Amino acid sequence: MRKFTTFLVGLMTFLGLGAGACIAADAPDIQKIKDRGVLKVGVKVDVPKFGYKDPKTGVTEGLDIDVAKAVAKKIFGDENKLETQAVTAKTRGPLLDNGEVDLVIATFTITEERKQSYNFSDAYYADGIGLLVKKASKINSFKDLNGRKIGVAQSATTKKVIQEKANNEGIKVTIFEFGTYPEIKTALDSRRIDVFSVDASILLGYLDDTTVILDERLSAEEYGVASKKSNTALAKLVNDVVNELKVSGELDKIAQKWGLK
Ligand code: GLU
Repeated sequence: MRKFTTFLVGLMTFLGLGAGACIAADAPDIQKIKDRGVLKVGVKVDVPKFGYKDPKTGVTEGLDIDVAKAVAKKIFGDENKLETQAVTAKTRGPLLDNGEVDLVIATFTITEERKQSYNFSDAYYADGIGLLVKKASKINSFKDLNGRKIGVAQSATTKKVIQEKANNEGIKVTIFEFGTYPEIKTALDSRRIDVFSVDASILLGYLDDTTVILDERLSAEEYGVASKKSNTALAKLVNDVVNELKVSGELDKIAQKWGLK
């Protein structure tokens, strides 16, 4: 019996050492998150179905949050080891830069320009820029915007897309930039602008009895998970998660759950 125990201990030590030698240590960017015990993610809190904080429950939920949970699960084996922080189009980049968040999952469109500054995962969803107008405005399509005033958000992809499309269609528009989406809606309500334009998903949060979102979409906004350029191991892990969600059909299920499919 003693012989057998000695053999067993010896075997376990051997296997333990063997396993230890095979498992690569975590890269510093991932180890830092593990040591902290929580993944910090910047999310929207005012975009229904993507990142929306329910004023009644105080819970932030949506497709972006579900993707964040999948990343937390990959790192910790526990999707709840997640801390979300509210971001806007303007604040999300700086929050990544200064390390206050590990990731931004916040309707963040992948562009060549942004790829110079951040790692982006493959796209996990595609939305399009839409137009929110007053029902009484008689604006039914992009062409009707000739001579009109359009409100967009600073640091959003919208301005460039609208300007290019207006040039292509030979119409003249005046674009006003605002710091936040509620400011654009207020400007629309007080008729300082004729149109509120951004991704349709974001417009949905501002739709009311007096307004309508036109069917037309002006672009394909592909959303990716962003990380700090230097966090390369984290970027790879995140991209693996996005692709696993796609291949397993889980991403489709999540989109369905939020009424996005
Ligand atoms: N998705 C667009 C962008 O990344 C709209 C801005 C936003 O997400 O708030 O520029």
